[in-house]
Amino acid sequence: MQTNFTPEQLADPAVAQSEQILRKCVHCGFCTATCPTYVTLGNELDSPRGRIYLIKDMLENGRAADREIVTHIDRCLSCLSCMTTCPSGVDYMHLVDHARAHIEKTYRRPLADRLIRSLLAFVLPHPSRFRLSLAAARLGRPFVPLLRAIRPLKPLAAMLALAPASIPPADKAARPLTHRPEGVRRGRVAILTGCAQAVLDPGINAAAIRLLTRAGVEVVLPKGEGCCGALVHHMGKEGQAFDAARRNVDAWIAEIEGEGLDAILVTASGCGTTVKDYGHMLARDPVYAEKAARVSALARDLTEYVMTLDLPAPVNPTGLVVAYHSACSMQHGQKITREPKALLAAAGFTVREPAEAHLCCGSAGTYNILQPEIAAKLRDRKVRNIERTRPAVIAAGNIGCMTQIAGGTAIPVVHTVELLDWAHGGPRPRGVPEPATAPVREAAE
Ligand code: SF4
Ligand code: SF4
Repeated sequence: MQTNFTPEQLADPAVAQSEQILRKCVHCGFCTATCPTYVTLGNELDSPRGRIYLIKDMLENGRAADREIVTHIDRCLSCLSCMTTCPSGVDYMHLVDHARAHIEKTYRRPLADRLIRSLLAFVLPHPSRFRLSLAAARLGRPFVPLLRAIRPLKPLAAMLALAPASIPPADKAARPLTHRPEGVRRGRVAILTGCAQAVLDPGINAAAIRLLTRAGVEVVLPKGEGCCGALVHHMGKEGQAFDAARRNVDAWIAEIEGEGLDAILVTASGCGTTVKDYGHMLARDPVYAEKAARVSALARDLTEYVMTLDLPAPVNPTGLVVAYHSACSMQHGQKITREPKALLAAAGFTVREPAEAHLCCGSAGTYNILQPEIAAKLRDRKVRNIERTRPAVIAAGNIGCMTQIAGGTAIPVVHTVELLDWAHGGPRPRGVPEPATAPVREAAE
C-alpha cells in the first residue's frame, strides 16, 4: 500500500512504525473472511482492511479521531485472526494499538462512555477493588433489565450481568511465595498472578502450581507483580499499561538476577500475549528496553512449558470428552495451537475441536462489557459450535473466554491446566462430572 507521510510525521517513531505496517498491506482482503466483526456485521469498515484504511487516513492527515473511526476501531476485538490469515504479514496488532492510543489522546468520548471506561480501568487491574466491585454488583443485578433499556448504560448492564453469583475465597497460592518442588528440583519458574483471574478463579493457578511442583519445578510468585496491563492497553490507555509492564518487569528481573528463572509462566493467554510483547511496548524506554526484552524472551504460556517437562503417564486417565476452545490470544496472538490439545490427549481426555475454531467468542478483555451486543452474537455462535461436539466439559486457556462461554451454556467450562492436574493426581475441577456419568471416548475412537 502506498503511503503519504511527511518527513516530520515520520520523525515520530510510533508513526514511522505504523507506516511500515501499512506499506505491507496489499489490499487483498483475505483477512475479511476470518474477521469476526466482518462475518457478523458484513460492513467493510468493520473488517481489518476497512479499519486499516481508516487508520491510514487518520494518521496520514494528522487528524484527530472522529466518531466514525472510533465506532469501527471500538468494534475490533483485537482477536488477531486477521494476522493469522494475512499472507503479507501485516502487523495489525501494533497498528491498532497505535490507533487506540491516538483515539485516547485526540477524541472526547460521550460522558457515559468516559465514566464506564474510567471505572473499568480503575477497578479491573486491582484484585481488591475488583473483589469489592463484584460483591457490589450482586446488589445491582436487579437493575440489569432497566439499564439495558438505556443505550449509554448498556455496558453497565453487561458488567453486572457478567459478575458471577458467588466469588471464590482468595487463595493462599496467590500470595507472594515460593512453592518448593516434590523431589529433585528440575526447574524454577515464576507464575503471573495477574488481576481478574486471581479473583474469579484462583483454582487455576493453584492447579498449575500443583502440576508443576509435582513434576519437580519450583514455582515462585514474586512480590510486586500484578496486572499485565492488557485490559487498559486495549482501551488505548498506553501510559497505565506501560506502568503495569514496568512494575512486572522489575519484579521478574529481581528473580532472574536472584535465584534465576527458566521461564515466566502465564495461565491466561490474553495476558501471555501482552507479556510476550513487553519488549516491544517498552522498546523506546531507555531504562526498561533491555530488561523488558529479557522478560518477554522468558515468557511462556503454561502449556508451552509443560510440554517440555515430559510428564509421566496420567494416574487418572478418564477418557472424558473435552471440547477445546482455543482463545484468540492463544492461537492468533501467540500461535499456540498444538500444545494444549496434545497435553489433554496425553492426559487421557478425548479432545474435540469445534467448527469455526478461529472465530472469537466475544470476550476480548473488556469487549463483552463495552460492545455487549456483538459479543453476545459471537458467544452464541461459539456455544452452538461447541455444543455440537457433545462434550462433557469445555477447556480453555484464558479466563475471559471461560467466563464468556460459561454465560451461554450449562456445560462446565474449566481451564486446561485444571484438567491436566486432575489427570495427574489433583482434585476433580469444580463442576466437572464424574466420568461414570459423562460422555467418554467411544470404542470406535
Ligand atoms: S483483530 Fe479481529 S476483529 Fe479486529 S480486525 Fe482483526 S480479525 Fe477483525
Ligand atoms: S490480508 Fe493482509 S494484505 Fe490482505 S487486506 Fe488483509 S491485512 Fe492487507
